[in-house]
Amino acid sequence: MEKEIKEIKALLETPIRAVIIPHMNPDGDALGSCLGWSQYLKLKGHQTQVIAPNSFPIFYDWLLESENILDYDKKPNKVKEALENVDVIFFLDYNDLKRIGDLRSVVENHSAKFVMIDHHRQPTDFCDIMISKPGKSSTSEMVYEVIEALGDKNLINKSIGECLYTGIITDTGSFRFGSTTKETHLAAAHLLEAGVDPDQVYTRVYDNNTIDKMHLMGFVLVEKLKQVDNLAASYISISEEEQNRFNFQRGDSEGFVNYGLSVKGMKAAGFFRESEGFIKVSLRSKNDFDVNVIARAHFNGGGHKNAAGGRLDMSLPEAISHFETIMKQHSDELQFD
Ligand code: 5GP
Ligand code: MN
Repeated sequence: MEKEIKEIKALLETPIRAVIIPHMNPDGDALGSCLGWSQYLKLKGHQTQVIAPNSFPIFYDWLLESENILDYDKKPNKVKEALENVDVIFFLDYNDLKRIGDLRSVVENHSAKFVMIDHHRQPTDFCDIMISKPGKSSTSEMVYEVIEALGDKNLINKSIGECLYTGIITDTGSFRFGSTTKETHLAAAHLLEAGVDPDQVYTRVYDNNTIDKMHLMGFVLVEKLKQVDNLAASYISISEEEQNRFNFQRGDSEGFVNYGLSVKGMKAAGFFRESEGFIKVSLRSKNDFDVNVIARAHFNGGGHKNAAGGRLDMSLPEAISHFETIMKQHSDELQFD
């Protein structure tokens, strides 16, 4: 990373106009890393604008400056304006322009310098400066490290800390997943030192469910959690009709995929949600079972070894049967220990 840090340092030597872009359907890590990085750049005297491909879950609206995020879906013309005379575009928490949907066409031939900070596997080569660390817990942890490597750890204040801490806890399942390392905890420790109140962040992110969401969760656990044959693989699916029944709001199914994996001995879990004509797919796994490879090969997606996603252009029953077929093909690896 040393070479890249030098290059970023050089980029930031004089005041720049920067745009920062998270992936589509931004999650806690995408938002946290972008907003934390944006606040840091401002403290260093740069101008920044965060542009999201579409809207973000309401339970992140307390993150400082989230109200200034420009939503390409809602305001395409404002976004095009904001992209004029920009020196640098930062791409945070993804490594392929496919992940920003229609915003891609507006951005990809831009004359600005492109910088990637990301922790997903198999990055595509579209940036001038690429910091790609697939082993890292989160892009937010990487932003912390980049700020530290730039010699500015002392600039991390409470609100930057809250953004990065949010990204770390949401991408590590609150320090549970295998990607959590000593460095993750050391970064978190420093963020607490900077003023972050972990209880408050946790409450804002997680203890804000609607009654509808809790009812949906109950319904899903009772009626929709299925095992594939006798294999260590399970899945949950929800149709559009079921979402409507529970007044589904974006983000309401976040974390559902993990319930499948929390069943004793499970090694793989899928989650399938009907969404405006396609099926959004989430895959999770334990240990060596690599859902990134499976997402790339069969679900038009990718991600990490133990957490990946994608999309299918087929009906929900077809998507489920597609998943079952693939799990059965991996039945050797999906036996209970
Ligand atoms: P989630 O299941 O939470 O949507 O995503 C899990 C992981 O897979 C995330 O790290 C996310 O970045 C990645 N991912 C989700 N959807 C897609 C997709 O459509 N394409 C690719 N390449 N990665 C995805
Ligand atoms: Mn992430």
